[in-house]
Parts: sequence; C-alpha cells; structure tokens
Amino acid sequence: FERMPRLGDIPAYFAQDRPERAAMRFGTRTTSWCELDRRATEVAHALAAEGVKPGDRVAFIGKGSDRFFELLFGAARLGAVVVPLQWRLAVPEAEAILAHCAPRLLFLEADQFAHLGSFAAYGGPDGCIAMGPGSSCRLFDDWHGHARPTGALPEVDPASAALQLYTSGTTGEPKGVVLSHANILSGRRDAMRAGMRWNEWDEGDVNLVALPLGHIGGVGWAIVGFFNGATTLIHAEFMPDAFIAALAGESVSKTFLVPTAIQILLTRPGIRERTFPQLRTMLYGASPIALDLLREATEVFACEFVQQYGMTETCGTVVYLPPEDHDPAGNERMRAAGLPMPGVELRIVDPSTRGALGVREVGEVETRSVANMLGYWHAADKTAQVLDAEGWLKTGDAGYLDEDGYLYICDRFKDMICTGAENVYPAEVENAIYGHPAIAEVAVIGVPDARWGEAVKAVVVLKPGAEAQETDILAFARIRIGGHKVPKSVDFVEGLPRTPSGKVMRRKLRDPYWEGCERGVN
Ligand code: ATP
Ligand code: MG
Repeated sequence: FERMPRLGDIPAYFAQDRPERAAMRFGTRTTSWCELDRRATEVAHALAAEGVKPGDRVAFIGKGSDRFFELLFGAARLGAVVVPLQWRLAVPEAEAILAHCAPRLLFLEADQFAHLGSFAAYGGPDGCIAMGPGSSCRLFDDWHGHARPTGALPEVDPASAALQLYTSGTTGEPKGVVLSHANILSGRRDAMRAGMRWNEWDEGDVNLVALPLGHIGGVGWAIVGFFNGATTLIHAEFMPDAFIAALAGESVSKTFLVPTAIQILLTRPGIRERTFPQLRTMLYGASPIALDLLREATEVFACEFVQQYGMTETCGTVVYLPPEDHDPAGNERMRAAGLPMPGVELRIVDPSTRGALGVREVGEVETRSVANMLGYWHAADKTAQVLDAEGWLKTGDAGYLDEDGYLYICDRFKDMICTGAENVYPAEVENAIYGHPAIAEVAVIGVPDARWGEAVKAVVVLKPGAEAQETDILAFARIRIGGHKVPKSVDFVEGLPRTPSGKVMRRKLRDPYWEGCERGVN
C-alpha cells in the first residue's frame, strides 16, 4: 500500500493485483479494476486536452454514480482538484460554491439540468459535460473515449490538493476544505498497518455507498473502500427500501450511514423480519446518535457497529468506537465517540485560555494528524482561526477524554445553551427525549429568556398518528435528566431543517427567536 500515495494510484495498483474483479457496481453496470484504470487515464488526457492544468478545479454536481469515480481518479492523475457539490443544494447555494471554487469545467448528472440555465456562467451546455444522456451537453463517455493522449501525464505530488469539499453548512456558510492526496490516504495506510480487526478488508468485500458524494461521509467513505480493494456498490441516493434490499441480497459486507438514515431504515415496515447475513460492519457517524436508536440498530442489523467521529477538515474519521464497545446493555462506553485512529493526536483545551484540560474536563476538542486539511480555499483568515502553526486543528466541538483515552463528544460549542450559570448540551437533552414513544425526531435549542439568559426549548416531530402534549414530554424528560436541562417549552413541527448530509440545522430553528437580539458568546 506504499504504492498508493496518490488517489490516481489506486486503480493502477488494483488493475495489476486483481484486474478482472469488480471495482464498482452501479445499477446494471459493473466496472472492473482494469477498466476503471483505463478510463481514469482517458479522463486525465481528456481534461488535459480541455486545457485543465494541475491545480485547476473541476466541479461535479449530481447524485451518486460510477462515472463520478472515473472523474475523480482521472482528475487525480492529472493533479486537477475535484469539487463535488451536494445535489440537494438550492441553485443560489450551488452558485455561491461554484463562484468560490471557479471550476474550469462542470460535470453534471442529466437529472440536474434544471439548474443549467443558471450555470451559464460556466459555459452553459457547451462548457458542461453530462454524466448521462438526456441533455444537449457533451456526454462524459464520448468526451473521454474520443480524447487523444496528450503526451505524458505530470508527476503528481502527494502533498498537492486532490479534493475540495465544502463543509455541511450546519453552523453557517459551507467552507471549502482543501485536502491533499496525502491527507486523504496516509491516515488510511496507518489504519491498515495497525491491523484493527474491524478495519480488515479483502477482495470479496462489497461496500455500499449511498450518502451524497458532496459530503465526506459519501466520497470519503467510498475512497476508503477503493483504497482497500473492495467492490464499491453505488446508490444514486439514499433510498431506504433499495438500501435494505441491497443489504439483504447483494452481499454487502460494509457500509456507512448517518444516524438520520439509520433512523429512517428502522421505521421501514418489515425491517425487523429481515436478516442481513453478509453484513459484517455498519459504520456510523457525522452527528450525535441517540443511545436508544443505536441500541435498536444493533439488534436489528445484528452486525458489528463502529462509530466514526471526524469532520471534513480531517478527511473524515479521526476517532472510532470499536465493535466491542457496543454493549447492548448500554454501558457508558457506548456513549463515547471512541479512540483516536492510529497516528491521530487528541487534546482538550479550555476554549477561552486555550490551556490543556485534564481527564473528564469538558473543553474544545483539538486534533493533529496527517489527515488535517491543507486549509480553507481562499480564506487564509478562517484557516488561521482553526489551524495553528504546530498543526493542531480546533474542531469547535465540546468534549472530554476519560482515563482510558476515550473521547466523548458533548456537542458543538455554537449550539451550547447557557441557562442561568449552567451549560447545557442539546445532544444530551435530545438523547433523553428521543426515547419518548410518540417522538420521531427532536432538536433542542436555546431561546432568549429574561430570567435565565437562555432557556432550553425542544422542537419535536411526532410519529405519524401519535399524540403527545408538551406536559407529557417535559415530564418524560424530567425523570431522565437534571432539572436545568429539562426544556421549558416544546414546539411541534412537521419536519426539521436538515443539511444535504442529513444534519439538523439548529440555527435555522433558533434564529427566528433571536431576531434583534445578540446571542451570548457562542
Ligand atoms: P459546518 O462546519 O459547515 O458548520 P459541519 O461541521 O456539520 O458543518 P462536517 O465537516 O460535515 O460539517 O461535520 C463535522 C462535525 O460533525 C463535527 O465537528 C461534529 O460536530 C459532528 N460529528 C461528526 N461525527 C460525529 C460523531 N460521531 N458524534 C457527534 N458529532 C459528530
Ligand atoms: Mg464544521
């Protein structure tokens, strides 16, 4: 695996090692490793013929597809930087990102063409390349299939940028995170060397990728599977029934999901009657998970569970909770985010003094490893705010370490509620309320309060046909958490605002309450 220091080396390595095995499957199409390798080379030449230079950005907006990975590996061979956008973004949001990254070329899925008019700035249909038929753009397959080799491809430096991924936008505008080949792959190599059992892969592994490619949990997780030589099964988007069918019938052995997606799967009729004999490992993370949900999921899927904690800025996972810490009886460990991945350092600091804190003291989580981003694109000031000269990255998350080095995440500092003299972490309150039988989803926020500064409020979505009064929910919370954490009020809503990667945007719920007033230190 020393032979794969760059993304573009992955198909080349496995084209030697296992040429005829499937690198990926999408719908009815299967692509072998040697085919993927050939296509990646074609894409690199086609990009070069188009005038794309190493370091240039090329953007992709679309649902999941095998073509995207041909583009990713091809661009990597040329040293071009792929910028995958969330297809769920509204047009103005996508336009803001395109303006920020200024791509040389735009690659689109055919069913994304409703947007095209407003993408005219990027050359309109002539400047764009379509991954599938049904538009007036040039078709991806023809475009690279007809390209003539442009001479030798450049030697790509592993320390150069490979991927520019925008953060989820949970706490504000998405930030453009620039990740190098080495950022993305070195940590995976260290993980492989460490020989953790849950991280063992063989060529029979099938990795199901259903999360959006514009998010580290989609593209980052897919790269992990490719790097380990598995077959990547790609779903265009997360479709719960198709997902369940694939787990049950397509020999899927590994997958990664966000808690919201797990929760949706558990509400599908008949899920408890299904068995998933091939499924070995379900990885989950990207936002806090309610303990009740996790317990239920471990029973239903009856496989190994591994939590992942990380962020776009760290190429995804820097902390993992291994299967053996998922005791269904729900011991304390099951609440942890887990242990640092090999080569990852963690520390907890006081958010105001930046001084180091001790065991079980809550502060800001900082991390240092080869996976830390190069920086935010065209935002040196923002980069300097989070990444110091020694390479420590501020996560913005509140958490603590226990005596054995396990990290526990409380929540994001920006969402912490200061009520009276107490700090309340919404995730803990959500965790408590989620167990109420009538509740499908819950978010907890701080709203202005004359007496307490901020008051805790729960915003809930009831299960279809279920009923519950504010007083029932408050009484339920009162027996599970300390008095100052119990919400003072409950709002009932039809749905929660979420990012394209499935995270609840608490700021969207909170902002209307804070109009015209300043919200504390956060
Ligand atoms: P933005 O930075 O734009 O506000 P974001 O932080 O949600 O969006 P991501 O990089 O996708 O963007 O998410 C990283 C964050 O997700 C972490 O900082 C943390 O708050 C949260 N997170 C990730 N994994 C976990 C986990 N296992 N448990 C709890 N929270 C998690
Ligand atoms: Mg963030």
